[in-house]
Amino acid sequence: PRQINLASRPSGWPTADNFDLVEVGSQPLEEGQVRVRNQFMSVDPYMRGRMNDVPSYIPPFQLGRPLDGGAVGVVVESRSADLAEGDLVLHGLGWRDEAVLDAARARRLTPVEGLSNSAFLAVLGMTSLTAYAGLLDVASFKEGDAVFVSGAAGAVGSIVGQIAKLKGASLVVGSAGSAEKVEYLRGIGYDAAFNYKDAPVAEQLKKAAPDGIDVYFDNVGADHLEAAIGSLRTFGRVAMCGAIAVYNSTEPTPAPRNLALAIGKRLTLRGFIASDHADRMPAMVDEVGGWLREGRLSYEETIVDGLENAPEAFLGMLRGENTGKMIVRL
Ligand code: NDP
Repeated sequence: PRQINLASRPSGWPTADNFDLVEVGSQPLEEGQVRVRNQFMSVDPYMRGRMNDVPSYIPPFQLGRPLDGGAVGVVVESRSADLAEGDLVLHGLGWRDEAVLDAARARRLTPVEGLSNSAFLAVLGMTSLTAYAGLLDVASFKEGDAVFVSGAAGAVGSIVGQIAKLKGASLVVGSAGSAEKVEYLRGIGYDAAFNYKDAPVAEQLKKAAPDGIDVYFDNVGADHLEAAIGSLRTFGRVAMCGAIAVYNSTEPTPAPRNLALAIGKRLTLRGFIASDHADRMPAMVDEVGGWLREGRLSYEETIVDGLENAPEAFLGMLRGENTGKMIVRL
């Protein structure tokens, strides 16, 4: 089997040289362990942070060691009573063809007819949990709210906008980085969408939501956050989900210059990590799964084939080459 190791730590934008594809010997199983043939793995923005040697809510990747992250695969050998050969599982050892882990660290999945198993990494997994908990719990979305979502054509953003519409938002505005993505957003129910590369975000947001917004779901940070603070109405809420615009910065980035507006407007800006909201997974699967079955919610995946192409898929995602969730098929 093969795995991808961290070869070196990037400064600024990562490159293919930061990754090493290596062949490793097959690891024997210990009692309680399973061997999983990975089918799909996730590449996510948070992995950029883990390439830096800094303390965070999740430990950094180690030099010369394999990267890890969400993966779905099939048990091919088991020394555990809890999982049998042929079981489909979700676990945290992506970036490799084959994972050996304690059965307790894998969750058995029931395949869903008509859905690819990659859905457990995205629309029926962490992606939608992030969107669901972030919008409904962290931003306390209420029917009638006007919502702005950045990174709107990405994995999380494309789900956030649809949930907001399905739950009765008065207006849903999205921003993304290309004309095709803006088209895509209109197609999935966004009331208005713009390309943030066309003109200043603050200007475009004001045009799209002239009466202001109540909720901002922030995937981007920087100028997007500043624009949202400018457009938020009194008692507006921000779910601070991510700040992808600054993940590759080598210098500290300026705070939103208008942050002091938060006082007079009585804004709430709240950061969150989806895994803290794991208790919402059943409700999310129930509701989002229902909308999927009824054809009221759609999702997109951008699939890249082959473990050897996983670094390129990750880098491509950072550059915006994905619509919906970027997935590597192994
Ligand atoms: P996406 O599928 O949205 O992929 C990343 C996207 O970011 C790209 O497609 C690109 O789209 C956009 N992007 C890249 N650089 C910039 C930039 N400078 N300005 C604006 N947009 C940019 O990834 P996810 O849906 O997985 O993640 C979205 C955000 O949510 C990230 O910030 C991530 O860190 C965060 N996140 C947080 C979680 C949490 O628990 N708090 C959990 C999951 C994700 P475009 O073409 O539009 O530029």
